[in-house]
Amino acid sequence: MKTLKFKLYKHKRNRYLKRTINAAGVIYNHCIALHRRYYRMWGKHLNCAKLQAHIAKLRKRNLFWQMVGSQAVQDICQRIEKAYQLFFKHHKQGVKPPGFKKVKKYKSFTLKQAGYKFLGGNRVKVGNRVYQYWNSREIEGTVKTLTIKRTALGELLMIVVVDDGTEPEIRSETGNIAGFDFGLKTFLTCSDGTQIESPQFFKQGLSAIQKACKLLSRKQKGSKRREQARKHLCRQYEKIANQRRDWFWKLAHELTDRFDVLCFETLNLKGMQRLWGRKISDLAFGEFIQILEWVARKKHKQVVFIDRWYPSSKTCSHCGHVLESLDLLVREWRCPSCQSVNGRDENAARNIQIVGASTIGLGDVRQAMPAISA
Ligand SMILES: [Zn+2]
Repeated sequence: MKTLKFKLYKHKRNRYLKRTINAAGVIYNHCIALHRRYYRMWGKHLNCAKLQAHIAKLRKRNLFWQMVGSQAVQDICQRIEKAYQLFFKHHKQGVKPPGFKKVKKYKSFTLKQAGYKFLGGNRVKVGNRVYQYWNSREIEGTVKTLTIKRTALGELLMIVVVDDGTEPEIRSETGNIAGFDFGLKTFLTCSDGTQIESPQFFKQGLSAIQKACKLLSRKQKGSKRREQARKHLCRQYEKIANQRRDWFWKLAHELTDRFDVLCFETLNLKGMQRLWGRKISDLAFGEFIQILEWVARKKHKQVVFIDRWYPSSKTCSHCGHVLESLDLLVREWRCPSCQSVNGRDENAARNIQIVGASTIGLGDVRQAMPAISA
């Protein structure tokens, strides 16, 4: 599977897509309201199939809703269902149920097999209108989904997921496997003890963003200058995002040169955000992972993810002992069972490596077992 991103040409016609996204946002909120009402009345979770059937019926009588293709509507229900399932499973860890979203800020809709058609060249038909996009690379393979997404600047992106039918073939050139732990101060800690610091421009970019934020907050609501300031802020965001992306590509190449198998924890962005505050979205771990997976596939390397609920920080990577709790501020701890001293991030990275290795059938499984069952 490959994810390709294209920018749509600016055109008056794009307003139909934007309106569709708005309609998707309205439907989303309606679904959330239904979920809550259903729970209040029956004390039960409204199941996805029931919701889909009900929404499909409502859609027939609502012209605005019909802007959103029937598959995209199903996708909205499924997204909500996924969010609820995550909530049921992990609410003890602080996962919240899905909530209402501002329609203006609602970002995208997704189509599966129907509702769009590629017309060749750079033209794509979505609904019953034809749009053009910057044809930056070929779309090869079967298209699985097509997502139209609106950015903060009001531009539209088309995101295409294709199945190119190639199973990644893993070559073992360096024979190296490594685990990585994401951090705030240190971007990545590797299980071999090396650390990759976040580059300085992250910070510089952040202060430019803060400045732009302040400017924006001083402008009167609804004024032209406020809109200008908002766009300025968006551009600052874009600038730092571009710099960051460059750095991500370089880093991804560096790491895949050094290692054959790279293990990570499945990202829990929402949880990290709560733990560390807003800053997390500025670090864009998720984007880095996407780039890394892309590069790894090209170079026949493997990226492995381990369960995000695995206590990688609290487990001793030497003996498998699991601590009751470990404060965020503790950078180093002594294992009560085997007395070895564990640096927080490095220990986590080593555990991620151990579990990653065992999930793909390399390495010592025994060491990781007690940690999983705990
Ligand atoms: Zn120990």
